[in-house]
Amino acid sequence: MVQPPSLLWFRRDLRLTNNPALQAALRDGKPIMPVFILDEESDGHRRLGRASRWWLGQSLTELDTAIAQLGGRLILRTGPTLATLRELVLETGACMIHFNRRYDPPGSNLDRQIIEALRGDGLAVEDHAPNYLHEPWQLQTNQGDFCKVFTPFWRRLSQHVGPPATHRAPRAPHAWPACENWPSSGAIEHFQYKPAWTENFAHHWQPGEAGARHRLQHFLEDGIDDYPSKRDYPAIEGTSRLSPHLAWGEISVHEAWHSAEPAKCSGAVAFRRELAWRDFNMHLYFHYPDLLRQPWRENFRKFPFRKSAAMLKAWQQGRTGFPLVDAAMRELWQTGWMHNRMRMVTASFLIKDQLIDWQQGETWFWDTLVDADPAQNGANWQWVAGCGFDAAPFFRIFNPVIQSVKFDPQGDYIRRWIPELAALSAKEIHQPWAVPEDRLAATNIQLDRTYPRPILDHAKARQTALAAFRQVSGRS
Ligand code: FAD
Repeated sequence: MVQPPSLLWFRRDLRLTNNPALQAALRDGKPIMPVFILDEESDGHRRLGRASRWWLGQSLTELDTAIAQLGGRLILRTGPTLATLRELVLETGACMIHFNRRYDPPGSNLDRQIIEALRGDGLAVEDHAPNYLHEPWQLQTNQGDFCKVFTPFWRRLSQHVGPPATHRAPRAPHAWPACENWPSSGAIEHFQYKPAWTENFAHHWQPGEAGARHRLQHFLEDGIDDYPSKRDYPAIEGTSRLSPHLAWGEISVHEAWHSAEPAKCSGAVAFRRELAWRDFNMHLYFHYPDLLRQPWRENFRKFPFRKSAAMLKAWQQGRTGFPLVDAAMRELWQTGWMHNRMRMVTASFLIKDQLIDWQQGETWFWDTLVDADPAQNGANWQWVAGCGFDAAPFFRIFNPVIQSVKFDPQGDYIRRWIPELAALSAKEIHQPWAVPEDRLAATNIQLDRTYPRPILDHAKARQTALAAFRQVSGRS
């Protein structure tokens, strides 16, 4: 008799090691039918950004290969999630489904409906612990409220993180508990997405579990000790670059946390603190579902932002005339990723120098980041804007030239992404508009032809932003 399989429903947990849903399915002892459903219309979310779609296609290809090597098959489908799951149950006679929880409000609301509907159909449904260090209802303030301030959250979280998981992936060639009858699957090529502008992404990234493990290992061997002192310098690889791997669940965050052992590496606490920010942001989104739509601080809801398509375009294309800002925006376009300090600098520039609504920036990042994640992106944009939880005060406005001198002192980062400025010296490169004409001519730079003049005066823009802030905050 054919044994009915368990469905293993992959989402943002595209890994086989330390995957709680897979472990539970293995424990059941039934054949396992792994499935990924691309539901761009009704997954509770806006559509994935294009850079994320690129990553997803590559990561699914890796997962498909890894499962095939074990003797299984990844079933790929597109369509409305619940209807597709029901189709698969009908086609295969599956009696059980396992998946890892998600916490973003649109996703978790949809999951609740799916669980209810499938249980109503008579299916056993099990959801499992997730891609975060805590579950957002577990940590509370002394008053029983959710945590809105990072430092106490971090203290609580540090005491709370459970022991390391030790679930190894099945390894032997025929180790996958295979189904006797596999249902049809979409071709992996249809899930790959490679618009022309992403053609260089593969030089910078290796999506998938093996790439994630390699990245973590490399960081532990050659990065974590210097992490606290190097993490703010975008010209060097001073951070782990794990964010897209974590965003797609290609490595367990518990594994990242526990492998950064404070007794062994001096940067471990600083690194764990950043992982905790990731949890904090999801905690906030879980408790404040309007995170992407509304500033948390109500007075910011009437902030007099400008609408200027030309200004927005200059920022998106890295043509503001401020080299550090432009280098960062070009890094984003060419690699699908941007260094954290540069995200803060470019976000501050858009919101506070250009006075453009943070949501416009959030939307651009959503489309172009390979690590785009609603909680991380939304909470960080609100943080920079000064309208979010535990946010940087609005009046702290980054000076793009000072940031450039401080964090890219030799101009190496600028030279990498703006080759047309490469001949300028370390002193000149931060503000080409201040370089004498004859020197510009000698370095083949023509302002407004080879590189733009600044699109605004930072000192004046700062005053305008502060006046707008006083207006909404009622401060004189
Ligand atoms: P590391 O410094 O090595 O940190 C390790 C891990 O900690 C990261 O991989 C990430 O998962 C987490 N982390 C680090 N910094 C933060 C932070 N500020 N907030 C939350 N988690 C953090 N991160 C995303 O993953 N997705 C996003 O969509 C995203 N949007 C952002 C938008 C803005 C405006 C800003 C200022 C930050 C944003 N970040 C986002 C956070 C941060 O910039 C990236 O996580 C970080 O740059 C990733 O690089 P890394 O992996 O080398 O980080």
